[in-house]
Amino acid sequence: MDFQNNEGDAEASEPFSVQVCTNFDQYLQDAPPNRFGISFYRWEELRGILRNRAAWEAEHPKPTAAERKTKCLALNEFETENGLLYKKLSVAQIQAQQARRQVILDHEVFDTIIDIHISLLHAGKNKTFAAINEQYYGISRDEVCIASIII
Ligand SMILES: [Zn+2]
Repeated sequence: MDFQNNEGDAEASEPFSVQVCTNFDQYLQDAPPNRFGISFYRWEELRGILRNRAAWEAEHPKPTAAERKTKCLALNEFETENGLLYKKLSVAQIQAQQARRQVILDHEVFDTIIDIHISLLHAGKNKTFAAINEQYYGISRDEVCIASIII
């Protein structure tokens, strides 16, 4: 039996090697700390403030400057629903009827890019980034470009 003839439509379903994912994770870790991606710790912190502000305030009777900043950020920029975190829409975005964007965690970035790329039938990086940017918050154009070299 010749298994080499069995390649057909393998591309769409073939899992990415551990090495590819590891390389991408390494890229994220090496990225500048001011990138706007959100770590699990940060996500939990923002969600905690939004889900139970009174409890958070009770736990932080004398918040540090950084904690106050985080609280402002959570209340002004984000909202939570069904356990997920979303970037709040600006007035202009609401008027333009834009959809609310779900916050994507650092460790979900690579899989999300691949899912969208494949759902768009292997679209190029510009089309992939445009679709991602409409639905999700926390993935940069650079990350889509890097991933598109692999996928
Ligand atoms: Zn592809």
